[in-house]
Parts: sequence; C-alpha cells; structure tokens
Amino acid sequence: MTRRVSIFGATGSIGQNTIDLIARDPDAYDVVALTGAANIAQLAADAIRLRADVAVTADETRLDALRDALAGSGVAAAAGQTALTEAGCRPADWVMSAIVGAAGLAPGLCALEQGATLALANKESLVCAGQLILSTAQAHNARLLPVDSEHSAVFQALVGEDMDAVERIVITASGGAFRDWPLEKLAQATLDQASSHPNWDMGQRITIDSASMFNKALELIETREYFGVRPDQIEVLVHPESMIHALVGFRDGALMAHVGPPDMRHAIGYALHWPDRRALPVERLDLAQIGALTFRAPDEVRWPALRLAREVMERRGLAGAVFNAAKETALDGFIAGQIGFLRMAEIVEEVLDSIDPSHIDAPMTLDNVAHADQMARQAARRVIEQ
Ligand code: NDP
Repeated sequence: MTRRVSIFGATGSIGQNTIDLIARDPDAYDVVALTGAANIAQLAADAIRLRADVAVTADETRLDALRDALAGSGVAAAAGQTALTEAGCRPADWVMSAIVGAAGLAPGLCALEQGATLALANKESLVCAGQLILSTAQAHNARLLPVDSEHSAVFQALVGEDMDAVERIVITASGGAFRDWPLEKLAQATLDQASSHPNWDMGQRITIDSASMFNKALELIETREYFGVRPDQIEVLVHPESMIHALVGFRDGALMAHVGPPDMRHAIGYALHWPDRRALPVERLDLAQIGALTFRAPDEVRWPALRLAREVMERRGLAGAVFNAAKETALDGFIAGQIGFLRMAEIVEEVLDSIDPSHIDAPMTLDNVAHADQMARQAARRVIEQ
C-alpha cells in the first residue's frame, strides 16, 4: 500500500535528505505537498520528479516563477503563509516538518489535526508551543516522532522502557565551529567561520546555532517538552566526534547510548519507517578504526545560551516562543552583519528580561504564541538598532 507523504522545507538540508530516502522507493509513496521558500528551481524539479499534487513556496513574490517552472507538469502551485498551512491540512499519512524557524509551527499543527504522523525536525515548534503541539497530537490521535538526531536517539533508547525508570537524559553536542577557540577571540568570529560545522552538513542557520550553542539550548527545551522530564534531569555533554547522539540513564545506573554516524538520514529513516527498522544507506561505524571517543563538560561562560535555556525551561508558558523569536532575530542581525557573534546571546537575554510577563503567562493558543513571537522580535530589533 502506498503512503501519502508531504515534506515541509523540502528544499533544505533535512528536506533533501528525506527526498533522497523517498526517491529510492518511489512506488511506496504518493507525494501530496512539497514546500520551500527561495529555491524555486529545486522545489519545482523535485515536485515534478516525485509527481507531487502541489508545490508551495512561502514567498508570495515567487509564485509566478514557481508556476512557470511547473507549467505543463500537472503539479499545482501555491504561495504564502496561508497556502503553507493549507498544504499542512491536506490529508497525508506522514508529514516531514523541516521548515526552519517558528514558521514551521502552523503547518505542523494542521497536519496533526488531520491525524497525520508528524516527523518533527522543526525543533522550534516544540520550543515555541510544546504543550499545544502535544495536546493537539493527543486530541487527534496523531503521532509525533522526533527527527532531531539527539531526540531520535533518546526515543530509540526508550523503546520498551518505563519512563518512571528514567533518571536522566544526556544530549550530546559537538561544540560547533568554535569549540576550541580561545574565549577572547569569539567576539571577532565571522559569518563564514560560524557557518562551517566540523561534523554535520546542515542549513546555515542551524550551523551558526551550533557554534553559539543556541541549537543545543533549543534541544534542551525540546527534550523537556517531548519527553516530559524535569529540567534537572536533562544534561548536555560535549562530544566532539558526534558519534553518540544521546544517552538515557536509568535508576539501576545503566546508561543506554545511541551510537551512529553523523548522517541525518538515520533519524529521518527511523521516523519514516517507524515502528519498523529498515535498511538505510548510511555508513556503518568501525569503532576499532575510530579508536577513541571523547567527552567534556559544557562551559556556560563560553555558551550562555545553555544557561538561558535553563531559565526558559523553568519559566515555561510562552517563554520558549519569546526565546526562539529573540534568537531568530538576533541570528538575522548576525547574518546581516549588524551585530557580532557574542551579541546574539546578550540580545536574547535582554529580551527575556524586558518582555512584559503577560506575554509569557498568556494561555498557549496559536494566536498567543504568534503574539509573543511578534513582541519578542520587535524587542530584539529595537535592541539591535540601538
Ligand atoms: P535549511 O535552511 O537547509 O532549510 C530550511 C527549509 O525551510 C528550506 O526548505 C527553506 O526554503 C524553508 N524556509 C525557509 N524560510 C522559510 C519560511 N519563512 N517559511 C517557510 N519555509 C521556509 O534548514 P535545515 O534543513 O538544516 O533545518 C530545517 C529544520 O530542521 C530546522 O528547524 C532545524 O533546526 C532542524 N534540524 C536540522 C538538522 C540538519 O541536519 N540540517 C538536524 C536536526 C534538526 P528555501 O531553501 O527554498 O529557501
């Protein structure tokens, strides 16, 4: 039986890896929707190759270009935020959520409302609106599967286990581009330097977030929301080789580690075939060849994002939406050359401290999440422009 699948963020790093897996077995899937933003050529080529029902660009100014690229193919074209959310509402069995940023939230929610299985790479959804995502999944009997490599690793280590027996969850971090830089040099880090990851080949934004540890900060919050553990049960461990993705510690002292190559097709494939475990085209690790794996404690002076994430986990409510929006805006500022590398964490902290608590304590609805997001973006822009 074929499965109906949609891929949100199809033109990005996760999206292309998902397409790589799906295209290996084209008869097994009916592609419903593919979405992208700026990369119209890639979006149209994949939509035609996979015979998607519809291709959607988030950017309305590119609709004509998308229509031209799809002309005569039978694939429908659409553009804009509403079209993206509508694509999420199209019936599908399995949906990959791999838009970057808070923009991924609304289409993912709509997919859950249709009862689809949502493979969640878009960690920002859980950071901004974890309780809303989980309650929507529950209300519609929809399944949420983690795709972030650390969370997929934890999920796999927990198969057959009782959550009551879990003492702690340890997510690993490569340390990113600046792991071994002297602290005093970090203020001068350039965009090019921050955009190069030692182990993973990923989109530019998550690569910079890895260098600043904002990516791990988001993942701490994601762990708390997805697995329902207390903040003090979650640890970050710096592991430069990126072979162990996460560990789960149980009350009998056992630590279950998930070990695998740094290739996102593993976590994507696991979510695609779950609950089966099928053959995947990823490297098989030769541990004798690797010889040694190393670990060190994270340094919260070097990476203040980790400390800020702990504050957000304690405050909960819409603090995650504020944190993420301030981070996205500060990252825009760094990419645009308006602020230096270290200024990003300072701006996020200033926004968290200054935002009216009513935005954080409001009930978690999609409107309130969007409102908190807008307030935080405006506050961050004001700080950047000071
Ligand atoms: P990329 O930057 O490579 O791709 C992002 C995708 O989102 C592209 O399809 C892009 O379109 C689209 N997009 C960009 N802006 C918008 C917008 N405003 N509205 C709708 N679509 C938009 O990102 P990654 O694939 O690296 O990451 C995607 C998500 O997965 C992120 O949440 C990231 O944190 C998470 N993730 C990524 C991992 C990785 O290995 N890359 C690992 C774990 C999690 P276009 O390219 O056409 O402009």
